[in-house]
Amino acid sequence: MRVYQLARKLKMPTKDLLSLISEMGIEVKGSLGSLSPQEVSKIEEKIATRRKPTPREGKEVIRDPVVTFLGHVDHGKTSLLDGIRKTHVAKREVGGITQSIGASEVIFQNKRIVFIDTPGHEAFTAMRAHGARVTDIVVLVVAADDGVMPQTIEAIDHARAAKVPIVVAINKIDLGSADSDQVKRQLGRFDLSCEEWGGETICVEVSALTGEGLDHLLEMILLEAEMLELLGNPEGDFQGVLIEGEMDKQKGAGSTLLVREGILRIGDILIGDHVYGKVKAMINWKGGRLKEAGLSTPVKVLGLSDVGHPGGIFKKARDEKEARRLAEQALEEERKKNLWKRKEVTLETLYQEKKEEKKTLNLIIKTDTQGSLQALGDVLKNLENENVRINITHGGIGEINKSDVLLASASKGIVISFNVGISGESRNLAKEENVEVRQYEVIYEIIDDIKKAQEALVEPKYEEVIIGKAEVRDTFRITRVGVIAGSYVTEGKVVRGSKARVFRGSEMLGEGTISSLKRFERDVSEVSVGLECGVNIEGFNEVEKGDIIHIYEARKAD
Ligand code: GDP
Repeated sequence: MRVYQLARKLKMPTKDLLSLISEMGIEVKGSLGSLSPQEVSKIEEKIATRRKPTPREGKEVIRDPVVTFLGHVDHGKTSLLDGIRKTHVAKREVGGITQSIGASEVIFQNKRIVFIDTPGHEAFTAMRAHGARVTDIVVLVVAADDGVMPQTIEAIDHARAAKVPIVVAINKIDLGSADSDQVKRQLGRFDLSCEEWGGETICVEVSALTGEGLDHLLEMILLEAEMLELLGNPEGDFQGVLIEGEMDKQKGAGSTLLVREGILRIGDILIGDHVYGKVKAMINWKGGRLKEAGLSTPVKVLGLSDVGHPGGIFKKARDEKEARRLAEQALEEERKKNLWKRKEVTLETLYQEKKEEKKTLNLIIKTDTQGSLQALGDVLKNLENENVRINITHGGIGEINKSDVLLASASKGIVISFNVGISGESRNLAKEENVEVRQYEVIYEIIDDIKKAQEALVEPKYEEVIIGKAEVRDTFRITRVGVIAGSYVTEGKVVRGSKARVFRGSEMLGEGTISSLKRFERDVSEVSVGLECGVNIEGFNEVEKGDIIHIYEARKAD
């Protein structure tokens, strides 16, 4: 048996299995290497003793996977979904079903898989830009006769930016011009090497037209889902993500929610951003009425006050009064703060992001030719240093499009273009999403600006330097102010607002900030060596005659 086949059987990533094999001292050549039956049983034994059930929080259970198909136009995303539904939805239902929401469910090997209607990566990322991650697995569809195309690359980058694992479906293998090997070679260049070629990515050859390979694809989706251990808590507080909203003339606002936590029931009161209301009816993808909807279930909810934004998170409220109050509050905030606009990310403001130790500058780059894309990518990567990581989230050729802007918005990045323009539509979107777009015609200007941004990204380090010392000659207590130390500056200077530490002999008694500094009743900002002054140290009042005050200043370290 080959290593990757065993990895599948054991439901573990190939690279983890390979490191276990090498730990066990078994020699094998990568994921394509063969293992003898004895070796296989040794490994299986080892894993059985190692595997501990993953601890789960509270009442968490494994939930069904939610899958989205992405890929280049016309590569067969819609046909594949149709093909899967045709084969795996009970025969008597097929034809009778008019899909009523932008999602569907199939049961395969007694397990449920949820498909979100292939929204295109723009919508996929727009949803993420507004805060929600809906998809657990992306199926990247690549036509075997056409290979990796610009939107394939975009889809890869979008899935990666969202940290969603990719399963590849090489479609249209029924065609005479199909060349799956060529597709696999191309995918290898994007770090998606197929398992049977020694890589990590599950690749399945399929034909939406003949149905070939569809079951295998579903099997692999379930396998990937199992490895991901997708969890949810049916007893937890309800949380649903809005995947689409529509206004129906007769039925009013309809919102399709995907249940992420808890259970949604008829009569529940929902609130999500400015939208609220009592759940009057729930409709599943086949148009059937539901009384309740559990984990990973997409349902159209009727009865809400308005159509929400895709990606919006819905929760339950105690009663309609509370829900209305929260909705009004959200609306007010939206108005005030322009809630739907993200915090503006610009080269100048990025440094305010303090979450990570090492800062990351996420860039989306668009250029006029493959050569300049490569060159710019190399140049930018070279600018990476120990403080700032440069992450090229996506690189492509041609005009800046809406998808670039949305990707930048979702990944808090910046769009940089070289010798290409931007459509009016995309420019408006960039404004709406507050995404910074920088267009250049000279490569050195890009380098200069990125360097400047990097400097801003790195917060300066400060060190404390003693700038003066003063000896306390007398003390006075003043009501509401505290103790004033009448002091004589023995070294350097005393500066108002600077930090002070009080020493008695070699013992440090306390510290504080110099909140007031006076010379003969007059407030001054600093007093130099050889002069007398009155000092109040905020935060320390136990100062006595004979104490020495050390004055510090924080200076930017080199
Ligand atoms: P999408 O844009 O990715 O959703 O692609 P579609 O599903 O609309 O398919 C685009 C075209 O490719 C349609 O004309 C389909 O009939 C055709 N197509 C899709 N899958 C296959 C396949 O497996 N084999 C062949 N021969 N044609 C296919």
